[in-house]
Amino acid sequence: MKDKITTLDRPIQVKKFGGTSVGSIERIHNVARIVIESLKNNYPVVVASAMSGETNRLVALAEEAFPHYKGPAYDMLLASGEQVAIALLAMAIERQGYKAKPYLAHQIGIQTDNVSSKARIQHIQTEQILKDLKEGIIPIIAGFQGVDENFNITTLGRGGSDTSAVAIAAALKADACEIYTDVPAVFSADPRLVPLAKEIKELTFEEMMEMASLGSKVLHIRSVELAAKFGVKIHVRSSFQEREGTWVMDSVQNLEKPVVSSVTHDANTSVVKINNLPEGVSGLAQLFEHLAQKGIVVDIISQTHLPEGQRLAFSVPSEDLYQAVTITQNLFTQMHKLPAQIETMDKVAKVSIVGVGMRNHPGVAAHFFKILAKQNIPIFLVTTSEIKVSAIIPSESLQKAAQSLHTAFSLDQLSKET
Ligand code: ASP
Ligand code: MG
Repeated sequence: MKDKITTLDRPIQVKKFGGTSVGSIERIHNVARIVIESLKNNYPVVVASAMSGETNRLVALAEEAFPHYKGPAYDMLLASGEQVAIALLAMAIERQGYKAKPYLAHQIGIQTDNVSSKARIQHIQTEQILKDLKEGIIPIIAGFQGVDENFNITTLGRGGSDTSAVAIAAALKADACEIYTDVPAVFSADPRLVPLAKEIKELTFEEMMEMASLGSKVLHIRSVELAAKFGVKIHVRSSFQEREGTWVMDSVQNLEKPVVSSVTHDANTSVVKINNLPEGVSGLAQLFEHLAQKGIVVDIISQTHLPEGQRLAFSVPSEDLYQAVTITQNLFTQMHKLPAQIETMDKVAKVSIVGVGMRNHPGVAAHFFKILAKQNIPIFLVTTSEIKVSAIIPSESLQKAAQSLHTAFSLDQLSKET
């Protein structure tokens, strides 16, 4: 171990290890080796999430104790998985003769707002981390959690430890954040759904943000937003193979970028339909404001005027469906003094194509519709932006849709260099 130094002579590098990377003691020892190895060229700052399956186990326990409960107790319970992982990882590093110290969010000063189970990071103190680095101690920080102004433990939403890592990298002004995971890179589609999916070498923040918001589980969306905002490059790579993965950054070098860089899907999407909404816009504004206050991200919205009145349909993550319906029903009866006619669709999925190349190519949406039409796949809701087209379709057609889009947009042949 190096002697105590006062200034840092190597770059700080934040390394985040996901659940599968710390899924067993053997794997934790593997992570310890990666961290120790990186001491040669860097000062590693480690962020870890809970051992794989642990957070799901805690969610199931909470569901059993009090179905649909959200509040400080829920966040405290869910955050406990990370505590185990960081303590074990610190022990594994110390066993090799190096100094490491595990930290919970409140010990290091990861301040968040107070939105239960979807908190946002507001500020991170760096003093303790920098002090440790100067003393030759490797800080091992619990991902996914924070502390609010009343000292409640908060959590950042499922998959949120990526966001912890990027926020810590930004606070430390590190220029890259390494996200170690169980896949070697970001793929042009989920290989379980589309066997011909290929690894992508480079993606822009914009593309990755769309992919994350459209259902790609590789990175937590907030982490990409923060990375873009603070100019922190993200390197998604495998913790089991020593090689480059996917770089997510401002702009990519490849001039021959394909029009579409990936087909993304989200099987956990649901649609809420309201069939008796009185005319007017203010009711809509109130509804979406209430949903937003509860941290529910409404995705595709469609509103139509029929002779019978205004109709509204919107999609939400399936995990938020129950809460979205409850909020809608309560607000509706309070405002309009009659029950809402709500219909929900949960056997639906979202399939999307993403690519910055779309900007300069007209007709991409037309092509998208043609491909789905050819497969006889109905579309319930649709939305587009400059760099994506996405549609809500029946869950049972998801695989067929993803595979035919992947083929039609020439992603099957994508070379590894792309
Ligand atoms: N352990 C948390 C989860 O499973 C956070 C994370 O893995 O990023 O959602
Ligand atoms: Mg994750």
